[in-house]
Amino acid sequence: MASDSAEGNPLRPVTRFVADAMLARLARWLRALGFDTLFDPAIDDPQLVQLAERDQRWLLTRDRALVAQRRPSRSVLIAADAPLEQLREVVERCQPASPAALFTRCLVCNCLLQEVSRASAAPWLPERARTLPDPVRYCPRCQRHYWPGTHTWRMRERLARTLPEWFSERS
Ligand SMILES: [Zn+2]
Repeated sequence: MASDSAEGNPLRPVTRFVADAMLARLARWLRALGFDTLFDPAIDDPQLVQLAERDQRWLLTRDRALVAQRRPSRSVLIAADAPLEQLREVVERCQPASPAALFTRCLVCNCLLQEVSRASAAPWLPERARTLPDPVRYCPRCQRHYWPGTHTWRMRERLARTLPEWFSERS
């Protein structure tokens, strides 16, 4: 199982993010792609910048004044309103390596997911998900279960449309 310190290609630095309070949905899309993305609407501006500097994260924000006044080392001033257009902006600006797999990180709390057997996860799964062959993933922090289904296929489709260069060779 991957851990935070071991993930990614050692030849290419891992791209990490911290998103401001306006960018909840963008943060979820980045997590769906596997990117370590901090998001907490309770974090104030000085803390956002501090976290970005501490972990060498890209600071994603819609706040022009924050960037102008606090001058984070790496920031993307997001212009688009639609979350997937925002995602496109981030990828074009930061040029992260394309992820090896989708849905490896908790969409809600950003923790790396663990694979668990379908049998042990069964009590938490809806009836229709109990017979699917793919792995079930579990968030050790917030204890949510994730399983492949209509919802993940739809998300994957939308990601593929947004980032065709990452999906063309493995459709
Ligand atoms: Zn979680």
